[in-house]
Amino acid sequence: MFENKETTSIDQLGEFGLIDHLTQRFTISKPETVLGIGDDAAILEISGKRQVISTDMFIENIHFDMMYSPLVHIGYKCISSSISDICAMNARASQVMVSIAISSKYTLQAVDELYAGIQAACEKYDVELIGGDTSSSVIGMCINVTAIGYADAQKIVTRSGAKEGDLLCVSGDLGGAYMGLQILEREKQVFLDNKNMKPDLEGKDYIVGRQLRPEARKDIVDLFQELGVQPSSMIDVSDGLSSEVFHLCKHSNVGMKIYEDKLPIDQQTYDTAIEFELAPTTCAMNGGEDYELLFTLPQASYDKIKNSMDISIIGYCTAPHEGKELITKSGNMVALEAQGWENFVETNTNKSLGDDSIH
Ligand code: ADP
Ligand code: MG
Repeated sequence: MFENKETTSIDQLGEFGLIDHLTQRFTISKPETVLGIGDDAAILEISGKRQVISTDMFIENIHFDMMYSPLVHIGYKCISSSISDICAMNARASQVMVSIAISSKYTLQAVDELYAGIQAACEKYDVELIGGDTSSSVIGMCINVTAIGYADAQKIVTRSGAKEGDLLCVSGDLGGAYMGLQILEREKQVFLDNKNMKPDLEGKDYIVGRQLRPEARKDIVDLFQELGVQPSSMIDVSDGLSSEVFHLCKHSNVGMKIYEDKLPIDQQTYDTAIEFELAPTTCAMNGGEDYELLFTLPQASYDKIKNSMDISIIGYCTAPHEGKELITKSGNMVALEAQGWENFVETNTNKSLGDDSIH
């Protein structure tokens, strides 16, 4: 019955194009809905308080690979990466709902392990599991996490408040989760070629940990509170710095300049990138899943954050027509790639990180 209809491939649109396409005909008008689609989380108003809600899906062989991800880490990561979206609103996560679809190949012990990770993350982030849904699956495992958080109205930070002249800052370091994935993929290949080989992860514990068991930067939200700092815009780095810069610039209508020599890159990330013949800067700009917070601050806040070891000032906001540029170590200006992941397409088969294809 669909034979004569013209069709468009979803790949042509990309993830964000698809979301725009599907959601453009939906409007919001309820007084409780403060912000709908388009940010890290939706914002609702409940008797004067703001509630933020975000939902994320994790699919076997797209977001995680059972060959090298212990179920306990998968459970932990599903929760921490969902809570990261709540942190990106400068809110405090409070509850989660977890839905799972599992095939009969999983034993009770396996699902128990998944839930041990979920529980560990709930304890770590002080959130309560309040519900979910359970179904069977004929393909791989699928996990959906809805995270709910709260904040005072004046504390909420969206992607849209950055102003020209604001400082651009990022927490922690970048590119580690991506390099961890490269190591795990390499060792998986070695194992598939020779089942007697044991994975060699020696000296790679930091980056492998960044990939398998990332943390949400709740501590940075606490730090903002402590220092009396209110970011003007914020997003979490799930798809790669470059991609997140595009989101902030689009929503805030600004341009951005980033200094290559200010990008925070851990030594292990740096050394592993070199080992893989990748430019460490490219990994920091485009590697995904670091779950750090990227935010802008009015210049007047500089004194409050200048001594924070875990925050790097990596650039500043400009007028929108100035574009999004990286100022290289040699002083050249390089325009950022639209979604920042093109550089990886040629060199890596696993595109589940930092890319704009549907995953
Ligand atoms: P994040 O990477 O922070 O999880 P996404 O890029 O997945 O954010 O989503 C961007 C925005 O689009 C969010 O507001 C999200 O709720 C919304 N969104 C994503 N997919 C859908 C969908 N299928 N239907 C409606 N809204 C969606
Ligand atoms: Mg997000």
